[in-house]
Amino acid sequence: MNYLSTRGHPDRKRFCEILLEGLAPDGGLYLPETYPQVDTATLAKWRALPYAELAFEILSLYIDDIPQADLKAICAKTYTAEVFGTDEIVPLRELEDGVYLEALSNGPTLAFKDMAMQLLGNLFEYELARRGSELNILGATSGDTGSAAEYAMRGKKGVRVFMTSPDGRMSPFQQAQMFSLQDANIHNIAITGVFDDCQDIVKAVSNDLGFKRKYRIGTVNSINWARLLAQVVYYFAGYFQATASNDKPVSFTVPSGNFGNVCAGHVARMMGLPIQTLVVATNENDVLDEFFRTGVYRVRAAVDTHETSSPSMDISKASNFERFVFDLVGRDSARLRQLFVDDLGLQGSFDLSADPAFKQAAGRFGFRSGRSTHADRLATIRDTEKRFATLIDPHTADGLKAAREQISPGVPMVVLETALPIKFAATLVEALGEEPARPKKFEGIEALPKRVVKLPADAEAVKAYIAENCD
Ligand SMILES: *Cc1c(COP(=O)(O)O)cnc(C)c1O
Repeated sequence: MNYLSTRGHPDRKRFCEILLEGLAPDGGLYLPETYPQVDTATLAKWRALPYAELAFEILSLYIDDIPQADLKAICAKTYTAEVFGTDEIVPLRELEDGVYLEALSNGPTLAFKDMAMQLLGNLFEYELARRGSELNILGATSGDTGSAAEYAMRGKKGVRVFMTSPDGRMSPFQQAQMFSLQDANIHNIAITGVFDDCQDIVKAVSNDLGFKRKYRIGTVNSINWARLLAQVVYYFAGYFQATASNDKPVSFTVPSGNFGNVCAGHVARMMGLPIQTLVVATNENDVLDEFFRTGVYRVRAAVDTHETSSPSMDISKASNFERFVFDLVGRDSARLRQLFVDDLGLQGSFDLSADPAFKQAAGRFGFRSGRSTHADRLATIRDTEKRFATLIDPHTADGLKAAREQISPGVPMVVLETALPIKFAATLVEALGEEPARPKKFEGIEALPKRVVKLPADAEAVKAYIAENCD
Protein backbone atom coordinates (compact mmCIF):
# COMPACT_ATOMS: atom_id res chain seq x y z
CA MET A 1 0.00 0.00 0.00
CA ASN A 2 1.31 3.42 -0.99
CA TYR A 3 0.29 6.79 0.37
CA LEU A 4 -0.10 10.03 -1.58
CA SER A 5 -0.56 13.67 -0.67
CA THR A 6 -3.93 15.32 -1.28
CA ARG A 7 -2.08 18.24 -2.89
CA GLY A 8 -0.47 16.21 -5.66
CA HIS A 9 3.17 15.80 -4.57
CA PRO A 10 4.66 13.11 -6.87
CA ASP A 11 6.26 11.06 -4.03
CA ARG A 12 4.61 7.88 -2.84
CA LYS A 13 5.33 6.63 0.69
CA ARG A 14 4.87 3.50 2.75
CA PHE A 15 3.06 3.38 6.08
CA CYS A 16 6.10 3.54 8.38
CA GLU A 17 7.48 6.50 6.45
CA ILE A 18 4.39 8.58 7.24
CA LEU A 19 3.86 7.13 10.73
CA LEU A 20 6.10 9.70 12.41
CA GLU A 21 5.25 12.57 10.04
CA GLY A 22 2.62 15.27 10.07
CA LEU A 23 1.76 17.03 6.85
CA ALA A 24 3.13 15.94 3.47
CA PRO A 25 5.99 18.13 2.15
CA ASP A 26 3.55 20.10 -0.04
CA GLY A 27 1.28 20.85 2.93
CA GLY A 28 -1.25 18.19 1.98
CA LEU A 29 -2.55 15.26 4.01
CA TYR A 30 -1.63 11.64 3.40
CA LEU A 31 -4.20 9.17 2.10
CA PRO A 32 -3.89 5.64 0.75
CA GLU A 33 -3.75 5.47 -3.05
CA THR A 34 -6.87 3.30 -2.97
CA TYR A 35 -9.30 2.07 -0.34
CA PRO A 36 -9.07 -1.72 0.04
CA GLN A 37 -12.47 -3.27 -0.67
CA VAL A 38 -14.13 -5.57 1.80
CA ASP A 39 -16.69 -8.03 0.38
CA THR A 40 -19.50 -9.82 2.22
CA ALA A 41 -17.47 -13.00 2.63
CA THR A 42 -14.78 -11.00 4.44
CA LEU A 43 -17.35 -9.19 6.57
CA ALA A 44 -18.81 -12.58 7.52
CA LYS A 45 -15.38 -13.77 8.60
CA TRP A 46 -14.65 -10.60 10.57
CA ARG A 47 -18.00 -10.54 12.40
CA ALA A 48 -16.90 -13.17 14.90
CA LEU A 49 -13.43 -11.75 15.61
CA PRO A 50 -12.37 -10.25 18.93
CA TYR A 51 -11.53 -6.54 18.66
CA ALA A 52 -7.73 -6.92 18.59
CA GLU A 53 -7.93 -9.44 15.75
CA LEU A 54 -10.39 -7.29 13.82
CA ALA A 55 -7.97 -4.40 14.24
CA PHE A 56 -5.15 -6.54 12.87
CA GLU A 57 -7.21 -7.60 9.80
CA ILE A 58 -8.09 -4.00 8.94
CA LEU A 59 -4.66 -2.53 9.69
CA SER A 60 -2.89 -5.20 7.67
CA LEU A 61 -4.72 -3.98 4.56
CA TYR A 62 -2.97 -0.64 4.97
CA ILE A 63 0.36 -1.59 6.53
CA ASP A 64 2.72 -3.82 4.56
CA ASP A 65 6.05 -2.68 5.96
CA ILE A 66 5.67 -4.24 9.41
CA PRO A 67 5.88 -8.06 9.50
CA GLN A 68 2.37 -9.50 9.99
CA ALA A 69 3.28 -11.32 13.21
CA ASP A 70 4.64 -8.10 14.72
CA LEU A 71 1.57 -6.11 13.73
CA LYS A 72 -0.65 -8.78 15.21
CA ALA A 73 1.29 -8.66 18.47
CA ILE A 74 1.03 -4.85 18.59
CA CYS A 75 -2.77 -5.03 18.16
CA ALA A 76 -3.06 -7.75 20.81
CA LYS A 77 -1.00 -5.73 23.25
CA THR A 78 -3.01 -2.55 22.60
CA TYR A 79 -6.64 -3.62 22.69
CA THR A 80 -7.01 -5.48 25.98
CA ALA A 81 -9.84 -5.62 28.50
CA GLU A 82 -7.32 -4.45 31.07
CA VAL A 83 -6.76 -1.13 29.24
CA PHE A 84 -10.28 -0.59 27.82
CA GLY A 85 -12.40 -2.07 30.59
CA THR A 86 -14.37 -4.76 28.70
CA ASP A 87 -13.74 -7.70 26.38
CA GLU A 88 -15.79 -5.95 23.69
CA ILE A 89 -13.44 -2.91 23.96
CA VAL A 90 -16.20 -0.73 22.38
CA PRO A 91 -19.46 -2.14 23.81
CA LEU A 92 -22.70 -1.05 22.18
CA ARG A 93 -25.86 -0.45 24.20
CA GLU A 94 -29.36 0.32 22.99
CA LEU A 95 -30.68 3.57 24.39
CA GLU A 96 -34.11 3.60 22.79
CA ASP A 97 -35.65 1.71 19.92
CA GLY A 98 -33.09 1.80 17.09
CA VAL A 99 -30.72 4.30 18.77
CA TYR A 100 -27.46 2.98 20.21
CA LEU A 101 -24.47 4.38 22.06
CA GLU A 102 -21.08 2.92 21.14
CA ALA A 103 -18.74 3.36 24.12
CA LEU A 104 -15.37 4.57 22.89
CA SER A 105 -14.28 6.22 26.10
CA ASN A 106 -13.37 3.52 28.57
CA GLY A 107 -9.64 3.80 27.91
CA PRO A 108 -7.08 5.32 30.30
CA THR A 109 -8.18 8.97 29.87
CA LEU A 110 -11.92 8.41 29.39
CA ALA A 111 -12.17 9.93 25.91
CA PHE A 112 -12.24 8.26 22.48
CA LYS A 113 -8.78 9.57 21.59
CA ASP A 114 -7.34 6.67 23.60
CA MET A 115 -8.64 4.28 20.90
CA ALA A 116 -6.07 5.59 18.43
CA MET A 117 -3.41 7.03 20.72
CA GLN A 118 -2.83 3.75 22.58
CA LEU A 119 -2.06 2.06 19.27
CA LEU A 120 0.14 4.97 18.21
CA GLY A 121 2.21 4.63 21.38
CA ASN A 122 2.94 1.00 20.63
CA LEU A 123 3.60 1.64 16.92
CA PHE A 124 6.00 4.50 17.77
CA GLU A 125 7.93 2.41 20.27
CA TYR A 126 8.20 -0.44 17.75
CA GLU A 127 9.31 1.70 14.83
CA LEU A 128 11.76 3.85 16.83
CA ALA A 129 13.42 0.72 18.22
CA ARG A 130 13.67 -0.69 14.70
CA ARG A 131 15.36 2.49 13.49
CA GLY A 132 17.47 2.91 16.61
CA SER A 133 16.03 6.42 16.83
CA GLU A 134 14.26 8.72 19.26
CA LEU A 135 11.37 11.15 19.09
CA ASN A 136 10.42 14.15 21.19
CA ILE A 137 6.72 14.82 20.88
CA LEU A 138 5.79 18.46 21.31
CA GLY A 139 2.12 19.27 21.65
CA ALA A 140 -0.42 21.82 22.76
CA THR A 141 -3.57 20.75 24.53
CA SER A 142 -6.64 22.18 26.14
CA GLY A 143 -7.54 18.77 27.53
CA ASP A 144 -8.32 15.47 25.81
CA THR A 145 -5.51 15.21 23.25
CA GLY A 146 -2.69 15.92 25.67
CA SER A 147 -3.79 13.45 28.28
CA ALA A 148 -4.45 10.73 25.69
CA ALA A 149 -0.96 11.29 24.24
CA GLU A 150 0.71 11.20 27.66
CA TYR A 151 -1.06 8.01 28.77
CA ALA A 152 -0.16 6.38 25.45
CA MET A 153 3.53 7.36 25.54
CA ARG A 154 4.28 7.07 29.27
CA GLY A 155 7.19 4.73 29.89
CA LYS A 156 7.68 4.06 26.15
CA LYS A 157 11.30 3.67 25.07
CA GLY A 158 12.63 6.24 22.62
CA VAL A 159 9.79 8.70 23.18
CA ARG A 160 9.52 11.83 25.30
CA VAL A 161 6.43 14.02 25.50
CA PHE A 162 6.56 17.78 26.03
CA MET A 163 2.96 18.88 26.43
CA THR A 164 2.09 22.55 26.75
CA SER A 165 -1.25 23.63 28.20
CA PRO A 166 -2.67 27.01 29.25
CA ASP A 167 -1.91 27.46 32.95
CA GLY A 168 -5.03 27.11 35.09
CA ARG A 169 -7.44 26.75 32.19
CA MET A 170 -8.09 23.03 32.07
CA SER A 171 -10.67 21.42 34.33
CA PRO A 172 -9.24 20.26 37.69
CA PHE A 173 -9.88 16.66 36.62
CA GLN A 174 -8.03 17.08 33.33
CA GLN A 175 -5.12 18.81 35.06
CA ALA A 176 -4.90 16.08 37.66
CA GLN A 177 -4.98 13.38 34.97
CA MET A 178 -1.96 14.87 33.24
CA PHE A 179 0.05 16.39 36.05
CA SER A 180 -0.13 13.35 38.32
CA LEU A 181 1.92 11.26 35.87
CA GLN A 182 5.32 10.64 37.38
CA ASP A 183 6.96 8.98 34.36
CA ALA A 184 10.36 10.42 33.55
CA ASN A 185 9.59 10.70 29.82
CA ILE A 186 6.47 12.86 30.33
CA HIS A 187 6.92 16.63 30.68
CA ASN A 188 3.98 18.88 31.49
CA ILE A 189 4.55 22.53 30.66
CA ALA A 190 1.97 25.02 31.94
CA ILE A 191 2.19 28.15 29.82
CA THR A 192 1.20 31.53 31.21
CA GLY A 193 -1.37 32.29 28.53
CA VAL A 194 -4.24 30.77 26.56
CA PHE A 195 -4.46 27.72 24.31
CA ASP A 196 -3.59 29.78 21.21
CA ASP A 197 -0.29 30.80 22.87
CA CYS A 198 0.53 27.11 23.32
CA GLN A 199 -0.26 26.40 19.68
CA ASP A 200 1.85 29.34 18.55
CA ILE A 201 4.79 28.01 20.57
CA VAL A 202 4.47 24.56 18.99
CA LYS A 203 4.39 26.19 15.55
CA ALA A 204 7.37 28.43 16.29
CA VAL A 205 9.46 25.52 17.57
CA SER A 206 8.49 23.33 14.60
CA ASN A 207 9.37 26.14 12.18
CA ASP A 208 12.91 26.29 13.58
CA LEU A 209 14.10 23.50 11.29
CA GLY A 210 17.57 23.33 12.83
CA PHE A 211 16.15 22.83 16.30
CA LYS A 212 13.50 20.45 15.02
CA ARG A 213 16.09 18.20 13.38
CA LYS A 214 18.60 18.36 16.21
CA TYR A 215 16.04 17.43 18.86
CA ARG A 216 13.90 15.13 16.66
CA ILE A 217 10.70 17.04 17.31
CA GLY A 218 7.50 15.34 16.23
CA THR A 219 3.77 15.67 16.86
CA VAL A 220 0.77 13.42 17.40
CA ASN A 221 -1.95 15.72 16.11
CA SER A 222 -5.17 14.53 14.57
CA ILE A 223 -3.96 14.65 10.97
CA ASN A 224 -1.69 11.67 11.67
CA TRP A 225 -2.87 8.90 9.31
CA ALA A 226 -2.18 6.09 11.81
CA ARG A 227 -4.59 7.70 14.28
CA LEU A 228 -7.27 7.91 11.67
CA LEU A 229 -6.70 4.32 10.58
CA ALA A 230 -7.00 3.02 14.14
CA GLN A 231 -10.41 4.69 14.34
CA VAL A 232 -11.71 2.86 11.26
CA VAL A 233 -11.80 -0.35 13.31
CA TYR A 234 -14.55 0.69 15.71
CA TYR A 235 -16.95 1.49 12.87
CA PHE A 236 -16.70 -2.16 11.87
CA ALA A 237 -17.01 -3.29 15.50
CA GLY A 238 -20.06 -1.04 16.00
CA TYR A 239 -21.64 -2.30 12.79
CA PHE A 240 -21.26 -5.94 13.82
CA GLN A 241 -22.83 -5.28 17.22
CA ALA A 242 -25.78 -3.36 15.77
CA THR A 243 -26.69 -6.00 13.15
CA ALA A 244 -27.19 -9.74 12.91
CA SER A 245 -26.15 -10.03 9.27
CA ASN A 246 -24.06 -8.15 6.72
CA ASP A 247 -26.86 -7.02 4.39
CA LYS A 248 -28.28 -4.48 6.84
CA PRO A 249 -27.32 -0.80 6.65
CA VAL A 250 -26.37 1.14 9.79
CA SER A 251 -25.95 4.90 10.32
CA PHE A 252 -23.47 6.62 12.60
CA THR A 253 -23.56 10.02 14.28
CA VAL A 254 -20.21 11.51 15.27
CA PRO A 255 -19.54 14.47 17.59
CA SER A 256 -17.03 16.33 15.42
CA GLY A 257 -14.28 18.88 15.77
CA ASN A 258 -11.31 18.35 13.51
CA PHE A 259 -13.22 15.81 11.38
CA GLY A 260 -10.81 13.01 12.33
CA ASN A 261 -13.35 10.68 13.90
CA VAL A 262 -16.00 10.99 11.20
CA CYS A 263 -13.35 10.83 8.47
CA ALA A 264 -12.53 7.34 9.75
CA GLY A 265 -16.22 6.52 9.22
CA HIS A 266 -15.91 7.80 5.68
CA VAL A 267 -12.94 5.48 5.11
CA ALA A 268 -14.89 2.51 6.53
CA ARG A 269 -17.78 3.35 4.19
CA MET A 270 -15.42 3.65 1.19
CA MET A 271 -14.09 0.17 2.05
CA GLY A 272 -17.59 -1.19 1.61
CA LEU A 273 -18.94 -1.32 5.17
CA PRO A 274 -22.73 -0.92 4.73
CA ILE A 275 -23.03 2.53 6.32
CA GLN A 276 -26.10 4.41 5.16
CA THR A 277 -25.55 7.84 6.69
CA LEU A 278 -22.69 9.59 8.49
CA VAL A 279 -24.08 12.43 10.59
CA VAL A 280 -21.56 15.14 11.49
CA ALA A 281 -22.63 16.68 14.81
CA THR A 282 -21.26 20.11 15.73
CA ASN A 283 -21.81 22.57 18.56
CA GLU A 284 -22.02 26.37 18.13
CA ASN A 285 -18.72 26.14 16.22
CA ASP A 286 -20.54 24.97 13.15
CA VAL A 287 -18.12 25.30 10.20
CA LEU A 288 -18.85 21.70 9.23
CA ASP A 289 -22.61 21.88 9.63
CA GLU A 290 -22.58 25.02 7.49
CA PHE A 291 -20.64 23.21 4.75
CA PHE A 292 -22.95 20.19 4.63
CA ARG A 293 -26.02 22.45 4.58
CA THR A 294 -24.82 25.04 2.08
CA GLY A 295 -21.67 23.90 0.26
CA VAL A 296 -19.74 26.87 1.68
CA TYR A 297 -16.72 26.10 3.87
CA ARG A 298 -15.87 29.23 5.82
CA VAL A 299 -13.14 28.94 8.45
CA ARG A 300 -13.54 31.14 11.51
CA ALA A 301 -11.04 33.49 13.08
CA ALA A 302 -9.85 32.69 16.60
CA VAL A 303 -12.04 35.51 17.99
CA ASP A 304 -15.10 33.98 16.32
CA THR A 305 -14.47 30.57 17.85
CA HIS A 306 -16.88 30.09 20.74
CA GLU A 307 -15.84 28.59 24.06
CA THR A 308 -18.57 26.03 24.65
CA SER A 309 -19.52 23.31 27.08
CA SER A 310 -18.36 20.70 24.52
CA PRO A 311 -14.85 22.17 24.37
CA SER A 312 -13.19 19.37 22.40
CA MET A 313 -15.35 20.40 19.44
CA ASP A 314 -14.42 24.10 19.63
CA ILE A 315 -12.52 24.45 16.38
CA SER A 316 -12.27 27.22 13.82
CA LYS A 317 -11.20 24.96 10.98
CA ALA A 318 -11.38 21.19 10.69
CA SER A 319 -7.87 19.94 10.01
CA ASN A 320 -8.90 16.57 8.52
CA PHE A 321 -11.62 17.96 6.28
CA GLU A 322 -9.22 18.20 3.32
CA ARG A 323 -9.13 14.39 3.18
CA PHE A 324 -12.85 14.13 2.55
CA VAL A 325 -12.94 17.02 0.08
CA PHE A 326 -10.16 15.29 -1.90
CA ASP A 327 -12.48 12.31 -2.41
CA LEU A 328 -15.45 14.61 -3.00
CA VAL A 329 -13.75 16.36 -5.94
CA GLY A 330 -12.80 13.01 -7.46
CA ARG A 331 -9.23 13.06 -6.09
CA ASP A 332 -8.36 15.98 -8.39
CA SER A 333 -5.29 17.53 -6.70
CA ALA A 334 -5.33 20.67 -8.84
CA ARG A 335 -8.91 21.40 -7.83
CA LEU A 336 -8.10 20.54 -4.21
CA ARG A 337 -5.20 23.00 -4.21
CA GLN A 338 -7.41 25.67 -5.70
CA LEU A 339 -9.88 25.22 -2.82
CA PHE A 340 -7.49 24.80 0.12
CA VAL A 341 -4.53 26.92 -0.99
CA ASP A 342 -5.98 29.61 -3.27
CA ASP A 343 -9.53 30.13 -2.04
CA LEU A 344 -8.95 29.48 1.67
CA GLY A 345 -5.65 31.37 1.55
CA LEU A 346 -7.09 34.42 -0.18
CA GLN A 347 -10.59 34.74 1.20
CA GLY A 348 -10.79 32.27 4.10
CA SER A 349 -13.54 30.24 2.46
CA PHE A 350 -14.50 28.19 -0.55
CA ASP A 351 -17.85 27.64 -2.15
CA LEU A 352 -18.88 24.34 -3.72
CA SER A 353 -22.61 25.11 -3.72
CA ALA A 354 -22.76 25.34 -7.51
CA ASP A 355 -20.39 22.42 -8.08
CA PRO A 356 -22.07 19.13 -9.01
CA ALA A 357 -19.62 17.46 -6.58
CA PHE A 358 -21.39 19.05 -3.62
CA LYS A 359 -24.56 17.01 -4.22
CA GLN A 360 -22.39 13.90 -3.85
CA ALA A 361 -21.58 14.78 -0.24
CA ALA A 362 -25.09 13.80 0.76
CA GLY A 363 -25.63 11.46 -2.18
CA ARG A 364 -22.80 9.11 -2.96
CA PHE A 365 -20.96 9.78 0.33
CA GLY A 366 -23.98 9.72 2.67
CA PHE A 367 -23.15 12.76 4.80
CA ARG A 368 -25.68 14.73 6.89
CA SER A 369 -25.06 17.21 9.69
CA GLY A 370 -26.56 18.85 12.75
CA ARG A 371 -25.80 21.56 15.25
CA SER A 372 -26.48 22.01 18.97
CA THR A 373 -26.32 24.79 21.51
CA HIS A 374 -25.52 24.80 25.20
CA ALA A 375 -29.24 24.69 25.99
CA ASP A 376 -29.64 21.65 23.70
CA ARG A 377 -26.82 19.85 25.50
CA LEU A 378 -28.34 20.46 28.92
CA ALA A 379 -31.77 19.35 27.69
CA THR A 380 -30.36 16.18 26.08
CA ILE A 381 -28.32 15.28 29.18
CA ARG A 382 -31.41 15.75 31.39
CA ASP A 383 -33.74 13.86 29.08
CA THR A 384 -31.31 10.95 28.74
CA GLU A 385 -30.89 10.71 32.49
CA LYS A 386 -34.63 10.92 33.13
CA ARG A 387 -35.88 8.51 30.49
CA PHE A 388 -33.00 6.03 30.30
CA ALA A 389 -31.15 6.48 33.62
CA THR A 390 -28.01 7.02 31.56
CA LEU A 391 -25.46 9.80 32.00
CA ILE A 392 -23.83 11.18 28.86
CA ASP A 393 -21.16 13.81 28.43
CA PRO A 394 -21.81 17.11 26.57
CA HIS A 395 -20.07 15.97 23.35
CA THR A 396 -22.10 12.78 23.18
CA ALA A 397 -25.18 14.94 23.87
CA ASP A 398 -24.36 17.00 20.75
CA GLY A 399 -24.27 13.70 18.88
CA LEU A 400 -27.52 12.33 20.27
CA LYS A 401 -29.44 15.47 19.37
CA ALA A 402 -28.17 15.48 15.78
CA ALA A 403 -28.80 11.71 15.51
CA ARG A 404 -32.48 12.01 16.40
CA GLU A 405 -32.95 14.51 13.57
CA GLN A 406 -31.59 12.06 10.98
CA ILE A 407 -33.10 8.70 11.91
CA SER A 408 -34.61 6.60 9.14
CA PRO A 409 -36.99 3.82 10.14
CA GLY A 410 -35.46 0.37 10.25
CA VAL A 411 -31.85 1.60 10.13
CA PRO A 412 -29.99 1.37 13.44
CA MET A 413 -28.47 4.73 14.42
CA VAL A 414 -25.21 4.40 16.35
CA VAL A 415 -24.08 7.49 18.27
CA LEU A 416 -20.39 7.48 19.11
CA GLU A 417 -19.83 8.22 22.81
CA THR A 418 -16.65 10.30 22.74
CA ALA A 419 -16.06 10.96 26.46
CA LEU A 420 -17.32 9.93 29.87
CA PRO A 421 -19.39 12.51 31.79
CA ILE A 422 -16.91 12.74 34.69
CA LYS A 423 -14.48 14.60 32.40
CA PHE A 424 -16.99 17.43 32.09
CA ALA A 425 -18.46 17.36 35.57
CA ALA A 426 -19.29 21.08 35.71
CA THR A 427 -21.76 20.80 32.83
CA LEU A 428 -23.29 17.66 34.31
CA VAL A 429 -23.78 19.53 37.58
CA GLU A 430 -25.40 22.37 35.67
CA ALA A 431 -27.77 19.96 33.93
CA LEU A 432 -28.56 17.58 36.78
CA GLY A 433 -27.50 19.26 40.00
CA GLU A 434 -25.04 16.52 40.88
CA GLU A 435 -21.61 15.17 40.04
CA PRO A 436 -21.41 12.05 37.89
CA ALA A 437 -19.91 8.96 39.51
CA ARG A 438 -16.20 8.63 39.07
CA PRO A 439 -14.43 5.40 38.07
CA LYS A 440 -12.50 3.96 41.04
CA LYS A 441 -9.06 4.46 39.57
CA PHE A 442 -9.65 8.23 39.40
CA GLU A 443 -10.80 8.70 42.99
CA GLY A 444 -8.86 11.47 44.67
CA ILE A 445 -6.52 12.18 41.75
CA GLU A 446 -6.72 15.93 42.39
CA ALA A 447 -4.79 15.37 45.63
CA LEU A 448 -1.87 13.48 44.04
CA PRO A 449 1.54 15.15 43.72
CA LYS A 450 1.78 17.18 40.50
CA ARG A 451 4.66 17.10 38.05
CA VAL A 452 4.57 20.28 35.96
CA VAL A 453 6.79 23.25 35.16
CA LYS A 454 5.49 26.76 34.56
CA LEU A 455 6.97 28.70 31.65
CA PRO A 456 6.16 32.06 30.06
CA ALA A 457 4.45 32.15 26.63
CA ASP A 458 7.80 32.24 24.89
CA ALA A 459 9.06 29.68 22.37
CA GLU A 460 12.70 30.27 23.40
CA ALA A 461 11.92 29.28 27.00
CA VAL A 462 10.25 26.08 25.80
CA LYS A 463 13.19 25.29 23.51
CA ALA A 464 15.62 25.75 26.37
CA TYR A 465 13.54 23.43 28.53
CA ILE A 466 13.46 20.75 25.83
CA ALA A 467 17.21 21.02 25.25
CA GLU A 468 17.87 20.67 28.97
CA ASN A 469 15.72 17.58 29.25
CA CYS A 470 17.02 15.64 26.25
CA ASP A 471 20.27 13.92 27.02
C1 LIG B 1 -11.47 15.22 20.09
C2 LIG B 1 -12.87 15.08 20.53
C3 LIG B 1 -13.96 15.26 19.64
C4 LIG B 1 -13.75 15.68 18.20
O1 LIG B 1 -13.19 14.66 17.41
P1 LIG B 1 -12.56 15.01 15.97
O2 LIG B 1 -11.86 13.77 15.56
O3 LIG B 1 -11.62 16.17 16.19
O4 LIG B 1 -13.68 15.38 15.06
C5 LIG B 1 -15.25 15.05 20.12
N1 LIG B 1 -15.47 14.72 21.41
C6 LIG B 1 -14.47 14.54 22.30
C7 LIG B 1 -14.80 14.21 23.70
C8 LIG B 1 -13.14 14.71 21.90
O5 LIG B 1 -12.14 14.55 22.79
